[in-house]
Amino acid sequence: MSHKPPIAFLGLGTMGGGMARRLLDAGFPLTVWNRDPHKTEPYRAAGARAAASPRAAAEGAAILIAMLADDDASRTVWTNADGALLGAGRGSVAVDCSTISIGWARTLAAEAGKRGIGFLDAPVTGTKPHAANGELTFLVGGDEAALETVRPALEVMSKQILHLGPHGAGATLKLINNFVCGVQAATLGEAFALVRRTGLDPAKALPLVMNGNAGSPLVKAFGERVLTHDPGVYFQLELMAKDLRYAIAEAEAHGMRIPTGEAARGEFGEAVAAGLGKHDVSSIVDFLQRGS
Ligand code: NAP
Repeated sequence: MSHKPPIAFLGLGTMGGGMARRLLDAGFPLTVWNRDPHKTEPYRAAGARAAASPRAAAEGAAILIAMLADDDASRTVWTNADGALLGAGRGSVAVDCSTISIGWARTLAAEAGKRGIGFLDAPVTGTKPHAANGELTFLVGGDEAALETVRPALEVMSKQILHLGPHGAGATLKLINNFVCGVQAATLGEAFALVRRTGLDPAKALPLVMNGNAGSPLVKAFGERVLTHDPGVYFQLELMAKDLRYAIAEAEAHGMRIPTGEAARGEFGEAVAAGLGKHDVSSIVDFLQRGS
């Protein structure tokens, strides 16, 4: 029987909830922590240990995995006085799967390194059902040795693991990917608005766009969610606004601009200001229609 290393999982939101469940079902000894402790209950009932702080969760874990909203959440959970890095032992490996800025991913890697803890930035593509079904793709930055230590755990949650280079490489590709996703979503919203403004029938016009050359998987999925009035929240709109903000900052750090990303960021920012931040990201399409 193969020995499974103990894992601490920090952040049981839309994505982290499904990922932690995969690890539990695969038989990894699991300790969970979430800011809102109520979310730990189903995991406790299924055999996980619930910890009172990230630090307590990290004690005794060989692998620490976080799936949190943004840089601020990640900074708090890893590096505060009751943060996971203070509880983690030398030789353990910390994996941050959140979509975070590249600068923070590298700082966190250095902080972990000072304590003899390995680190990987390993953000994911895929959404809620992919997390629940173990069909994510991990975009990994960091050492090969650290990746080999955590690979069996990542495999339980994914269909693909892409090792892209040193610390920050995973975070970089994730932000570039979500920059394209954000622009496509905003473009689709403007297209919906134009369909309406020109008097075309959306039920006829939109499937043509969704199923033709412009119909990327994202355009298809978002178009479908809007046409069917799907009430599910797969990816909160405010998280996409955050990803665009980080991508724009990274481009600026490299002396370039991404004007389409800036335009999309402006539209997502307006939608957040209008109170749609906790709605599904596809509601940007509906929001942009309203202004037409
Ligand atoms: P979510 O449902 O909002 O979950 C966010 C998690 O972060 C929750 O556990 C939340 O705790 C925690 N959190 C937020 N602020 C915190 C703070 N200041 N201190 C401690 N914990 C904090 O988000 P999600 O959809 O799972 O996304 C998680 C990450 O994955 C994000 O970086 C997102 O950009 C990325 N991502 C999401 C998707 C998707 O389709 N949803 C796909 C790929 C990547 P509470 O439960 O207490 O609020």
